[in-house]
Amino acid sequence: MPFKALNLSAPVLRGIQAAGYVDPTPIQLRAIPVVLSGRDLIGSAQTGTGKTAAFALPILSKLGAHGKVRVLVLEPTRELAAQVETAFRDFARFTEIRTVAVFGGVGYGSQRSELKRGVDVIVATPGRLMDYMKDGAINLRDIQILVLDEVDRMLDMGFLPVVKDIIGRCPRERQTLFFSATVPPEIQAVASFALRNPERIEIGMNRSVTTSVSHALYPVAWSQKFELLAALLAKIDYDSVLVFSRTKHGADKIARRLKSENHSVAVLHANRSQNQRIEALAGFKSGKYEIMVATDIAARGIDVAGISHVINYDVPENPEDYVHRIGRTGRAQAVGDAFTLVSPENRNDIRDIQRFIGQTIPELKLEGFPYAPLTARPEPAPGQGQRGQRGGGQRQGGGGGGRTQGGYPQGGQSRQGGGGSGSGGGRGRFGEGRRPR
Ligand code: AMP
Repeated sequence: MPFKALNLSAPVLRGIQAAGYVDPTPIQLRAIPVVLSGRDLIGSAQTGTGKTAAFALPILSKLGAHGKVRVLVLEPTRELAAQVETAFRDFARFTEIRTVAVFGGVGYGSQRSELKRGVDVIVATPGRLMDYMKDGAINLRDIQILVLDEVDRMLDMGFLPVVKDIIGRCPRERQTLFFSATVPPEIQAVASFALRNPERIEIGMNRSVTTSVSHALYPVAWSQKFELLAALLAKIDYDSVLVFSRTKHGADKIARRLKSENHSVAVLHANRSQNQRIEALAGFKSGKYEIMVATDIAARGIDVAGISHVINYDVPENPEDYVHRIGRTGRAQAVGDAFTLVSPENRNDIRDIQRFIGQTIPELKLEGFPYAPLTARPEPAPGQGQRGQRGGGQRQGGGGGGRTQGGYPQGGQSRQGGGGSGSGGGRGRFGEGRRPR
């Protein structure tokens, strides 16, 4: 069924066309009629399914013309808030509807002046939204549609009390849309409190990894992890690579070492300023940086076309994060590869992940890599900070040179044109210009 058959407004259909979308994704097909009908909705869909447009398109169609603040979308992270607001703005480009992103870490000035000019849709993180509500810059009395996005993550991050407070400040007569990758009992409790007789839509299996991603485990000694990462990067043919670290400190360290091997690298984690984060994401999107090293929370929802590889330098702490990380590549109908470096101390985590996703992930060895015996990361001495010694550079120091003796290509050779390829060509991605700015 084409978008045209979904009863969306004419200007929104033009926006969809300009975004380069041809056919609706399954969640869009199912959610758009529900949202248009005015019913509440609980949607569980895996990341990369087109969830944002599934709610943004019918909402914009319903809003019609510019008016009061009628829509509030809550997001767990700044990046998601910025990204979802951009999607709204893109789809709304042929309407008079105004949108604003409201999140912390940046000054209040420009957000405040946009609010003063008058907006229809606010996409916000809970903390900054509360700031504006306290000083009267935002009032929720005219909200007609409330969207709670990525609720599971919002609760993980401790936002439950403030989210409840915000829900309580919206009019009782409203439409509420609730999206969460999983709906365990505590989330069900929030849903019961916030929604009325919701329609439920589940797309795919919550636990499944995107089918367009092929994933593999690379067992390696703890002390050789960086060496193996460097060797993989030298060997694979990539457009852009997202590397995950469990810790901020670890992310900085990996990035430093990659830079010293002449990779162009961006870093994204919660200790970076908002401007640094914006610069990192923009640079990664544009292809200025071929690699981005990120932690889970910062990377949640990153939507960059053309991520050809996700590499888990550290095995994720929660099995669910594995699914989210892997979902950063193979977005929509694109293809991608996901590699996870596994040292012996991660065996249980891997078992949990495989149980969670209901699949065995194949184990691979990188040909020609000078594998040392598989030793685990040493236990921290009593009283010693666990995180502090992660990834100790000195242990791996000699490895960089040894790597090239293995007979596989040197750093730059197998990577063609980091610049420009960041927007995704040639790997089955579609709609290159779909997010024009
Ligand atoms: P989301 O799950 O909302 O984060 O969307 C994942 C990616 O798919 C984003 O890059 C969207 O721009 C893209 N996308 C969403 N819906 C469609 C569609 N119907 N056709 C093409 N691309 C889409």
